[in-house]
Amino acid sequence: MKPYVKPYYAMTIDPIHVGTGGTRLERVDLSIVRDPATKLPKIPGSSISGPARAYTALETKKYRWEENGREYSCAGRGGEGGEKHCGMVNPACPVCVPYGFSKGTGNSLQGLAQFFDAHILLFPVASMIGPVWVTSPLALEAYEIADFLEDRFYPLGKQVEARENLNFGWIMLEKAKDNLEKIDQIKKKIPEEIPEFIKQRVVLVSDTVFPKIVNSNLEVRTSVSIDPDTGAAEEKALFTYEAIPRGTILKFDVVYNSGEFFKVGDKDLKLQDGRNVDIQWVKEQVEEGLKLFEVLGIGGMNTRGMGRVRVLNLEEVNKDAREN
Ligand SMILES: [Zn+2]
Repeated sequence: MKPYVKPYYAMTIDPIHVGTGGTRLERVDLSIVRDPATKLPKIPGSSISGPARAYTALETKKYRWEENGREYSCAGRGGEGGEKHCGMVNPACPVCVPYGFSKGTGNSLQGLAQFFDAHILLFPVASMIGPVWVTSPLALEAYEIADFLEDRFYPLGKQVEARENLNFGWIMLEKAKDNLEKIDQIKKKIPEEIPEFIKQRVVLVSDTVFPKIVNSNLEVRTSVSIDPDTGAAEEKALFTYEAIPRGTILKFDVVYNSGEFFKVGDKDLKLQDGRNVDIQWVKEQVEEGLKLFEVLGIGGMNTRGMGRVRVLNLEEVNKDAREN
C-alpha cells in the first residue's frame, strides 16, 4: 500500500511563536525557528505532531486513562522510556498507532503518520491599499519561474493589479513590466481552499525579496517576566519576542501509511471491529487532533493570546455513515 501525502493549509488566527529555545539574537530576546537556507520562519514538524498528538488524545479520551488498574497517558512522551503510552495495537490505540510509541524492543512502532515542517505560503503585510499577501516561487513550489523574476512585484490577485507601486511595510516595489503573462499561470498554484478575499490580494515577489519582506514584518512584542514566587513583575525583566503574524497561510505535509501489513511483536494491527488499520483511519485520528489547533493552539506563549491556527482543509467525516 503506497503512502498517501496530504498537504494541509492553515491560517494563523493569533500570532504564532515557535521558539528556538531562548537563544538571543540582536533583534529580539526570543527568536523563532528559521530555515537555515532560506532564512524564512518555519514551524518544525515536531511542533505540529506534538500538539496534534495531545489533542487526538483529548478527543479520543486517551489523554489520561485507566484500564485494569493501570494508568496510561497516550499524549506527550509517555514518561521516561514511553512506559505511560498504552502501546495497544489490537485494538489499535487512536493515539499510539498514528503517532507512534516505544516500550522497549519488540514493542514499538514508528507512527503511521509522519509530519513535515510548516512553511509560509502567503504572508500578510500592511500596504497603502490595506493588507496584501505576499508569496514567492519557492513558497508556491513554482520553481519554473524562479529564474526570471526581478526585484519588483507581480500581481496575482485582482485587487492589486492596478497598482504601479506598492509598499510592503517599509519596502517599496514597482510593478513588473515583463513576463506578466507567464506569471498568470502561477495563479493556479494558489490552493482552492484559500479564502477568496485573500486570493484577490496576492502578490508574487522573487525568492530574494520574499525573506526580506517577511523578516521585516514579523510581529514583535514586548512582555514582562513574572516572578513565580511573588506573582509580581520582575524588575528589568522586559523581554521581546517575535512571532508569525495572524492571517499568515502556512502549508505542511503529513504522510499517511497503512498499517495493514504491520506486526508489532507477534500482533497484527486491527481495529475494535476487526477491520484493518487503513490510511483513512490513520488520517481521521490525526485530523481529530488538527481540528483543535483552532481552539487550543500550537507553539509557545499560549497564555499570552498566541498560537491558534485554523486548518483549512480537514475532511468532513460523517461518522454515522461510516459505521453503517
Ligand atoms: Zn495509546
